Amino acid sequence: MTTVNVASVAHGAAEVAGPGGEADVAVVGAGLAGLNCGRELVARGLVPVVLEASDGVGGRVRSDRLDGFVLDRGFQVYLTAYPEGRRALDLAALDLRRFRPGAMTWHGGRRWTVSDPFRRPQDLPATLGAPVGSLADKARLGLLHQRIAR
Ligand SMILES: Cc1cc2nc3c(=O)[nH]c(=O)nc-3n(C[C@H](O)[C@H](O)[C@H](O)COP(=O)(O)OP(=O)(O)OC[C@H]3O[C@@H](n4cnc5c(N)ncnc54)[C@H](O)[C@@H]3O)c2cc1C
Repeated sequence: MTTVNVASVAHGAAEVAGPGGEADVAVVGAGLAGLNCGRELVARGLVPVVLEASDGVGGRVRSDRLDGFVLDRGFQVYLTAYPEGRRALDLAALDLRRFRPGAMTWHGGRRWTVSDPFRRPQDLPATLGAPVGSLADKARLGLLHQRIAR
C-alpha cells in the first residue's frame, strides 16, 4: 500500500515514503497546500513525501490540544463557497458553525461592535460610532457595497 508519509522533519532531515523507502515527489510543507498536494499525487499513483519543518502538520490552519481544550492558531473563518475546498475537504465532518458578520473590538477601555449593516441593520448605529475607520471610510464602504451589489 502506498502511504503518504507526513513527516515531522526537523532542520532539513528527510523521511521518505513508500514501501521501497523512496518517493517520486518531495512536497515541502505540510500546510493545507502541501497536504492536499500529497493527496493528489497519491490519487495519481505517485509516492510523495511531505516534509514539514515544524513539530506538527497543518501550517497556519492548526489546532493544539491542551488540558482538554482545542486551541486554534489563528481565527479560522472558512468561506464554504470555494470550489476547491468543497472538492478537497469533508465539510460535514468539520461541523462548521455560522458566525454573525462583524467583529467586536476593544478600544479605550470599552467594547465596540463593527458589523455589516446591510446584513444586520440593527448594528448600523454601533458601527457608525465605533472608532474603527473614519466616517468617510464607512461611507466609502457603503458606496462600494452598492456598486458591487448592482
Ligand atoms: C492568523 C491567520 C488566520 C487565517 N484565517 C483564515 C481563514 O479564516 N480562512 C481562510 O480561508 N484562510 C485563512 N488564513 C489563510 C490560510 O491559513 C492560508 O491561506 C493557508 O493555511 C495556507 O496554507 P499553505 O499550505 O499554503 O501554507 P502554510 O499553512 O503556511 O503551510 C506551510 C507549511 O510549510 C512549512 N515549511 C515552510 N518552510 C519549510 C521548509 N523549508 N521545509 C519544511 N517545511 C517548511 C511550514 O512550517 C508550514 O507548516 C489565515 C491565515 C492566518 C495566518
